[in-house]
Amino acid sequence: MSDDHSSIHEFDFQLICEYFAGLERQGPGSRTVTLQALQFIDTLTPNAQIADIGCGTGGQTMVLAEYTAGHIVGIDLFPKFIDLFNANARRLHYQDRVHGIVGDMTKRLPFANGSLDVIWSEGAIYNIGFERGLNEWRPLLKTGSFIAVSEASWFTPQRPDEINAFWQDAYPGIDTIPNKVAQMQAAGYLPIATFVLPETCWTEQFYLPQIAAQEAFLRKYPHNEMAMQLVTNERREAQLYAQYKAYYGYVFYIGKTY
Ligand code: SAM
Repeated sequence: MSDDHSSIHEFDFQLICEYFAGLERQGPGSRTVTLQALQFIDTLTPNAQIADIGCGTGGQTMVLAEYTAGHIVGIDLFPKFIDLFNANARRLHYQDRVHGIVGDMTKRLPFANGSLDVIWSEGAIYNIGFERGLNEWRPLLKTGSFIAVSEASWFTPQRPDEINAFWQDAYPGIDTIPNKVAQMQAAGYLPIATFVLPETCWTEQFYLPQIAAQEAFLRKYPHNEMAMQLVTNERREAQLYAQYKAYYGYVFYIGKTY
């Protein structure tokens, strides 16, 4: 019985990975926004140590590699994403200083205390929770170093019930921008910049590429309930975003240690 269950979950896991592995980014974001956030970080030397936590297949990591010297370690829970990440690093000739490893951000990360110059995390810190992630990762950073994370946030103090309920179920840690900034300050960072990602990061960069991917996915798995459910969920999420984008979005939070 339990074997049956674990193999079903294993298949679900593979399907989810396959769906998202086909996309350049696994969450809302863009090259422009990555570079915008990077502008708040002091120039990094070739010795700089950067961690990209929840890196996915490395869409934003390769942009960081292009614009920074230094070593970057990408960490993600999904081995398939890390394989693609390392293939991307090799294709772009960054393999000597950009490495992807499989790891779980909710466990002790493989960095010594006080060893990192930058922690980067786009659309991924929700997996540990914004507050917990900021607090647990703080000791890994040197004094005068940086953290840059993007995170789903409320734009308004009140929201319509439908979208409120959706997010309370998906990620109860979602909060308003001033509350997130206060959490960053309380975790031992000087909040140096906060900006809202443009809508195109969701529409053009994230949901639009999924339309073709969804059709191909459903053709490949025509009678698979899990595949249909996955596509239905993604479509509902895109529809909710179109309807309620005045109330929430992704926000970049950049902090400096002192
Ligand atoms: N940063 C990438 C981007 O912006 O394209 C990926 C963002 S995606 C929304 C979230 C990522 O977090 C996925 O790649 C997922 O595999 C990863 N993830 C989920 N849980 C994790 C965990 N416990 N530890 C490490 N990575 C995790």
